[in-house]
Amino acid sequence: MGNASVSDTNGGHSATATYPPVEIRFTDSTAVARHMYFLASDALKGRDTGSEGIAKAATYIETLFDKNGIVPYFSSYRDSLSNKRKAYNVVGYLEGNDATLKDEFVIIGAHYDHIGIGGRVRGDAIANGANDNASGTTAVLELARYFGKEKRNRRSMMFVLFSAEELGLLGSKHLARKLMEQDFNLYAMVNFEMIGVPMKGRDHIVYLSGYKRSNMADKLNEYAGKKLIGYSSTAARNYVFQRSDNYPFHREFRVPSQTICSFDFNNYPYYHHVDDEVDKMDFTHMATVVNEMISVLERMVNAPTKEIRYNK
Ligand SMILES: [Zn+2]
Repeated sequence: MGNASVSDTNGGHSATATYPPVEIRFTDSTAVARHMYFLASDALKGRDTGSEGIAKAATYIETLFDKNGIVPYFSSYRDSLSNKRKAYNVVGYLEGNDATLKDEFVIIGAHYDHIGIGGRVRGDAIANGANDNASGTTAVLELARYFGKEKRNRRSMMFVLFSAEELGLLGSKHLARKLMEQDFNLYAMVNFEMIGVPMKGRDHIVYLSGYKRSNMADKLNEYAGKKLIGYSSTAARNYVFQRSDNYPFHREFRVPSQTICSFDFNNYPYYHHVDDEVDKMDFTHMATVVNEMISVLERMVNAPTKEIRYNK
């Protein structure tokens, strides 16, 4: 997640449940931990944009995309940013299997950069960015592995790991603008940020940023058959909607573009701190988030119409 800046707000909504719950146990804490131990390791030196450390993360992501049937959308997986630092998003594509619906896309994203080497606590200068945002990157990798393996998606899917988020959402701004210029047919963008630690005292496991702007939370909860996704007032007060990679897609496309998160500013004291380390992550929580999101995203990409919408 990036540092705080701007504001704006929107209407309200309520939920119903008509679908039966679906139990998916695709990933588990072991699979999640494997990604996390690599992405948040000291070898990657905090994944600063343009660094050798983040290049290792990019290679890791590309290898997994390739292995799991996720192909490049552009001429390669790398979508270079037109700025002076050596930075690129990693963009993967999974074509939909419905002749008509495949023209519509759902983007699943997370930023894979972090703030690199800076602070120093007890001799540690590397900000490993385990929660921010090796955790979201891991979610996207596991979702890509699932959808790439099953290939049951009627709509097309784009899996994106954004660079330069911490420098001001530069990777997502670049890609959103580029896709807009290409008349990309975006249904919705679902972004993952800081899902490494559960919230306390809630009746839901994640919240959705910009909750009141759309019926996305209501629809996904309806698909889940339970309250999976809630509202966070602290997230709203801290402008989470405007501070992550969903926001440039909202600005360019004006379709639901929102972030799934379980950092509510009360449950983790190591935001942008060198102690944001892998040993503080809850892999069971992460695996649950991914499994639950698989089942609702599958319904979302296969729904006959674009039923997730911004509120009027
Ligand atoms: Zn951050």
